[in-house]
Amino acid sequence: MQSFQPPRRILMGPGPSDVSPRVLSALARPTIGHLDPEFQNLMEEIKGALARLFNAPDHACVPLPAPGTAGMEAAIMNLLEPGDRAVIAINGAFGGRMADMADRAGAEVVTLDFEWGKPVDPAVVEEALKAAPAKVFAFVHAETSTGVRSDAATLCGLARKYGALSIVDCVTSLGGITVDVAAWDADAVYSGTQKCLSAPPGLSPIALSKRAQAAITGRKTKVRNWLCDFNLLMSYWGGDGGRTYHHTAPINALYGLHESLVALFEEGQQAVLVRHARTHEALAAGIEAMGLSFLVAEKDRLPQLNTVIVPDGVDEAAVRSFVLAKWDLEIGAGLGPLKGKVWRIGLMGASATPWHVRVCLNALADALDAQGFKADRKAALAAADAKLA
Ligand SMILES: *Cc1c(COP(=O)(O)O)cnc(C)c1O
Repeated sequence: MQSFQPPRRILMGPGPSDVSPRVLSALARPTIGHLDPEFQNLMEEIKGALARLFNAPDHACVPLPAPGTAGMEAAIMNLLEPGDRAVIAINGAFGGRMADMADRAGAEVVTLDFEWGKPVDPAVVEEALKAAPAKVFAFVHAETSTGVRSDAATLCGLARKYGALSIVDCVTSLGGITVDVAAWDADAVYSGTQKCLSAPPGLSPIALSKRAQAAITGRKTKVRNWLCDFNLLMSYWGGDGGRTYHHTAPINALYGLHESLVALFEEGQQAVLVRHARTHEALAAGIEAMGLSFLVAEKDRLPQLNTVIVPDGVDEAAVRSFVLAKWDLEIGAGLGPLKGKVWRIGLMGASATPWHVRVCLNALADALDAQGFKADRKAALAAADAKLA
């Protein structure tokens, strides 16, 4: 065997995003014991920083030791017991994953299907919640498979109105668009580290309301999976001085998350959101000046995930291979019904910079040219620069 030396890449897909050198170097700091008092201080700081980032001062906030899907699974498995009614909105790949998990939890699952590329329609949700009491209503705030933002405040408000606990997937939204758990009065909100937080994958920050915690302690049956059973987990992350062994925290991964949070607050939460919005506007202007168009209506677009329609006569996969080979640039493919029809271009975290926008427009123009599609590179770069000025 030999040491693995990854190629240098520019990550502009649906995640992971580029990880900054300061986060990479934090990951390489010496490993200490997970029950070391210094490590426990780090855990407390991470809990506090996540509560600040989610704006969830009254929620229990911890990073689960596995990627975003673990947060999803923890929320579903902790809040649902066999026979509970769960209403789940599906407007892309991740809503479907939640429904599958709820089914495995033994819940009576009601799915609400929406067209891929459209937000969750609150009127349809209200109808379903009104029809019969539901224990849980779950939806995805930022659908990474389509690039669509749904109205989390309104949807969480409906859950409250009809007495359901809300589960909100904020894997791609946290750090890219406003996530305001307190204002939404949301119950279980989870995210991931490799999207807009620009830390490596492998951790899932989660926030649980008092109502959600009471539902978990009041369960009639044990949570079916052990690792993310909140009743057990909180004895480890709880912070009331009595920490006991539960699992071994991914120590160095938590150094990385901590550093990415330090960087985020140094820049400023609002400044980070503005940077995502501005780079998106520049990329969108460039994409359109090039003669390409977006899948999603402007008002519903996520700045951090841009879904661009593949023009007629252009080979979707060949463009991705071209930009990877010639520019070391990774962009994403379409999923499900959008396979072969769109590219997904991420502007997440450390990948949301003017430089990334310019690289991406140049690379795309080259790739399209190679296929005989005349993309106006000059116009694209000028349109992007006009937004960045
Ligand atoms: C990426 C993503 C997930 C899954 O996260 P992993 O870290 O890949 O497990 C879940 N939901 C959404 C909306 C995502 O974008």
